[in-house]
Amino acid sequence: EFRAIVVTRTEDEAGKRTQSSALTRVGDEALMDGDVTVAVEFSSINYKDGLALMGKPGVARVWPLIAGIDLVGTVESSSDPRWAAGDRVILNGAGIGESHHGGLAERARVSGASLVRLPEGVSASRAAAIGTAGFTAMLAVLALERGGVTPESGDVLVTGAAGGVGSIAVTLLHARGYRVVASTGRAEELGDYLRGLGAAELLDRSTISEAGKPLQTQRWAGAIDSVGSHTLANILAQTNQGGVVASCGLAQGADLPTTVMPFILRAVTLAGINSVEAPLALREEAWGRLADDLDFDLLDGLTEVISLEESFGAAERILAGQVHGRTVVDVRR
Ligand code: NAP
Repeated sequence: EFRAIVVTRTEDEAGKRTQSSALTRVGDEALMDGDVTVAVEFSSINYKDGLALMGKPGVARVWPLIAGIDLVGTVESSSDPRWAAGDRVILNGAGIGESHHGGLAERARVSGASLVRLPEGVSASRAAAIGTAGFTAMLAVLALERGGVTPESGDVLVTGAAGGVGSIAVTLLHARGYRVVASTGRAEELGDYLRGLGAAELLDRSTISEAGKPLQTQRWAGAIDSVGSHTLANILAQTNQGGVVASCGLAQGADLPTTVMPFILRAVTLAGINSVEAPLALREEAWGRLADDLDFDLLDGLTEVISLEESFGAAERILAGQVHGRTVVDVRR
């Protein structure tokens, strides 16, 4: 038996569905198919985990489901030739915490195909602090680089800057020499925090969150956006000729009320970021770069470590927009 946060869904006679989550003990027979069994050490709370734990639809797709889209731990047994007992591994997305049992548990059985080896010099708790959020931020930085955005190109905007993806995006871009502008709704409360991560300038998110013109004054060489909706439309309208915008999230909304003008008149590229389905080679490249580029003192400073039991409170707070940086779950606590 092991401890796990399990999401369940019930349906009443009228067909009304209710999803809820609880910390319980489950037996090994409950594990799903997979060729690698992992003793989990750490998971984390991303926005998606907040939704799953708080009974919101859209993340859990099978029930009962062990939550948690991230895990870091040690291989106990493996029939995948790539992995052996004792290997330290990371898994982000790839369906865990959505359609396959996830990381908010002391044990997991997963496919070895999307596992990444814990990089030399990165501790398990720091790998969980990076988690899906940091992995996504790195994928976005790689997308800007592939589009030819360099520190010499001009300012790079990060939206949702105080969130998980945003905080790590700011530190990664700063480490590579970019001048970073951080858009946030919490400039008063978290201005010092964001400047400490490397933001050169803060932008109040309300200045880019309303419907705007299809083309506006050019001000960004690139952008990493966690927000979507009118915010993303305004960013596209403000992006320089040939610039790249990486779309990661939908904190404001899943809509994108834009026009083709930024694309056909300014050759702006909108790059999509999907951490869940990222192919293995890209996972390995991103984790290699995270190990090289990330300032681990800054990472420690933006991380809070909690227990499994405390995950529910953290889930509630992330949905309420009250969390900044990253929340690691020590599943053994
Ligand atoms: P998070 O920690 O909650 O960060 C989201 C941030 O967005 C908040 O901290 C807030 O930043 C800002 N925000 C919240 N509500 C907003 C609103 N109504 N309008 C404008 N800004 C708002 O979440 P996360 O885990 O970093 O994830 C961020 C987003 O990326 C989520 O939508 C998530 O689903 C998505 N995501 C996608 C992928 C992928 O593979 N594409 C991977 C991970 C996450 P400020 O307080 O600084 O304004």
